[in-house]
Amino acid sequence: MSGTRSNIRPGEFELIARIFAPLSRKLPGAFGLTDDVAVLAAPPGHEIVLKTDAVIEGVHFRKSDPPETVAKKVLRMNISDFAAKGASPYAYLLALSLPEWPDTAWLEHFARGLGEDQETFGVTLAGGDTDRTPGVLSVAVMMTGFVPQGTLIRRNGAAPGDLVYVTGTIGDAGGGLELLATPSAKRPDWEAELVSRYLVPRPRLAFGQPLRGLASASLDVSDGLVGDLGHIAEVSDVRIEIDADRVPVSPQLRQLRGNDSEAIARAATAGDDYEIAFTAPPSRCEAIGQVAAKTLTRVSEIGRVVAGEGAVLLDGEGREIPLERKGYTHF
Ligand code: ADP
Ligand code: MG
Repeated sequence: MSGTRSNIRPGEFELIARIFAPLSRKLPGAFGLTDDVAVLAAPPGHEIVLKTDAVIEGVHFRKSDPPETVAKKVLRMNISDFAAKGASPYAYLLALSLPEWPDTAWLEHFARGLGEDQETFGVTLAGGDTDRTPGVLSVAVMMTGFVPQGTLIRRNGAAPGDLVYVTGTIGDAGGGLELLATPSAKRPDWEAELVSRYLVPRPRLAFGQPLRGLASASLDVSDGLVGDLGHIAEVSDVRIEIDADRVPVSPQLRQLRGNDSEAIARAATAGDDYEIAFTAPPSRCEAIGQVAAKTLTRVSEIGRVVAGEGAVLLDGEGREIPLERKGYTHF
């Protein structure tokens, strides 16, 4: 806690009671945010899944971004991890570090964004922390949820002979971020679509849960397709080959950058996709197609798992495309 008083927004306790407590209503164990902790019962036969992800002003969002989208981005970053693991998110804690600038209206819009996504994804606020910071605004979410005992889809199960798949299209958020560098009051639809993919991720929750029992390894693509598949390769002790011409690229991104191998390489190493990349034995191919059809999810087969190490992007002749970097890293 912190004893913040400010004339531009309510005090800490009023903020919690008026703006955040209504978001906890569906969770009796949150006690209306009037107690020190929240309690939660796991459904029988399930394990508790935990994850935290934060967004920081100037790193993951810009001060000028709509507060609703900041709220949705941080929630969805967490939810995307649950999707990739076949787990169900349930409740979350919210830690806010507030500098002077977010006023009451900003906080109300932020809470409205949380409320909308609580409905969309079936999650509820369980508690949190609110502090004043001398630095920039940061929002940390700690999400908790459940998975049937022993069924979590790990990163370490990929085996030589498996195929590699990815949902949706890759690189759109990176294109959106590039577009945001040039301010514009009215964007054409194709630009607005790319910007929206950067501002508000679209986690594949409906697709991830039926992947349990089908995928041998899975993760969500947050730091770049090639780099993230490299994480599966490393912990599974295999090599992953991605065919550049099978990496799914949206018409909007093609409009921005064309379709040559440099454009594909950029898409496959850009961050913020929040798609699911996974591996599975070829015998599961048909079942994966059925899950894709049932959940209205585009799924592309993009490569294969072989013996060796690392993740690489191959051109049409099977030659490795040299990459400056395979994904986004903070340090
Ligand atoms: P303490 O003094 O025990 O640290 P706080 O005064 O920080 O407790 O918080 C009081 C209650 O409000 C707790 O239930 C806490 O979980 C909740 N809370 C505080 N900040 C937030 C927030 N940003 N979002 C949701 N709940 C919050
Ligand atoms: Mg306390």
